[in-house]
Amino acid sequence: MSKPDLNCSFCGRPKPETQLLIAGLDAHICDRCIVQAHGIVQEEASGEIKDSSPIELKAPKEIKAFLDDYVIGQEASKRVLSVAVYNHYKRLSHENTKEDDVEIQKSNVLLVGPTGTGKTLLAQTISRLLKVPLAIVDATVLTEAGYVGEDVESILTRLLQAADYDVERAEKGIVFIDEIDKIARKSDNPSITRDVSGEGVQQALLKLLEGTVVNVPPKGGRKHPDQKFIEVNTSNILFIAGGAFDGIDAHINKRLNLQAIGYKTALEKRDVDQQNILQYITPRDVRSFGLIPEIIGRLPVLTYMSPLDETTLRIILTTPKNALIKQYIQLFKMDGIDLQFTPGALDYIVEKALKYKLGARGLRSLCEAVLNDAMFELPQSDTTKLKVTKQYADQKLSKIELPKLKVVS
Ligand code: ADP
Repeated sequence: MSKPDLNCSFCGRPKPETQLLIAGLDAHICDRCIVQAHGIVQEEASGEIKDSSPIELKAPKEIKAFLDDYVIGQEASKRVLSVAVYNHYKRLSHENTKEDDVEIQKSNVLLVGPTGTGKTLLAQTISRLLKVPLAIVDATVLTEAGYVGEDVESILTRLLQAADYDVERAEKGIVFIDEIDKIARKSDNPSITRDVSGEGVQQALLKLLEGTVVNVPPKGGRKHPDQKFIEVNTSNILFIAGGAFDGIDAHINKRLNLQAIGYKTALEKRDVDQQNILQYITPRDVRSFGLIPEIIGRLPVLTYMSPLDETTLRIILTTPKNALIKQYIQLFKMDGIDLQFTPGALDYIVEKALKYKLGARGLRSLCEAVLNDAMFELPQSDTTKLKVTKQYADQKLSKIELPKLKVVS
């Protein structure tokens, strides 16, 4: 007689998918459920009350000041984001005191700007400040995997993981959706519309943004018929969406020109700062770019990121709390080596990043290229000091093809 199929009576996982399946009188439990149950027992035993206390509300100015330590420039978006985050968590902290009928809407955010200008960094820094879990997801993955419902839920699986499966914490967390522009309609012409996203994903995404209760498979991946789901309410999750929106400048310009012709506007054509055209962005431009109005409506706070110029890149390299140069100095110090950069060397690295359009991400690749030989040779040597000059950097960089660094991000 063949053995009956055995499953964990708690999560439903079949025996072959478990490391261990322990039999009870008329039930079984797998290794993972044991670990999870053990955690619960410990938590109960220690009398630990789950942290359901509201997040410590920070005023917009405090939020901005914290962001300033990590994110260079981007004044406009830091201000807008500070207010949005403040309002969002203020809304949460007053949730239970419904004195009047005014329902405060969520302040989900849309960040528009070139890649590598600090969009993800902003979301990361805010989650660090507020000590709330953060999930970073790529909208293109949601659109291309095809298995509709599951994919959108996977956002919440990630958030749950980031919150150590503490649902209450996850429900106050932040989700950063990168490349939101990639799910835009490319054109009104259906023949070149690459609607890989499908209505399903977009609709599911809309619900998440607005607030809904989702059954989340705890480990992501395919749904197992007997798998236990975790219910996650997305009403209080802050969604920050980001995208480069390549080509949106044409839409902005077109609108500005039309305005300049049609009416006497405050913004005369000649006053338009073409170097940073994104500063004039409005939801209308995002719409004509191809993002569907429903999504725009659920991302009511719109702001932009400025391109990084020479001065900003130079500051990024040396000034933030965890600036690259500070990190390398620390790394070398651990080997007893005093690492120094001359101003000329720093200018040179920035110049290369700009020239080859490597952006802020390129700074790291460039520093690696400059310092790699030293990081290989110097540990366990007698050297106690390394001064990186422009000549030194030039000599190291001349060995590699800089445009190739672009792929390293
Ligand atoms: P995006 O999400 O806009 O594509 P990221 O936030 O991922 O860009 O930025 C990539 C890296 O570049 C960051 O980890 C950070 O080291 C650096 N960086 C980019 N913009 C800034 C900025 N404004 N201030 C400080 N560092 C930045």
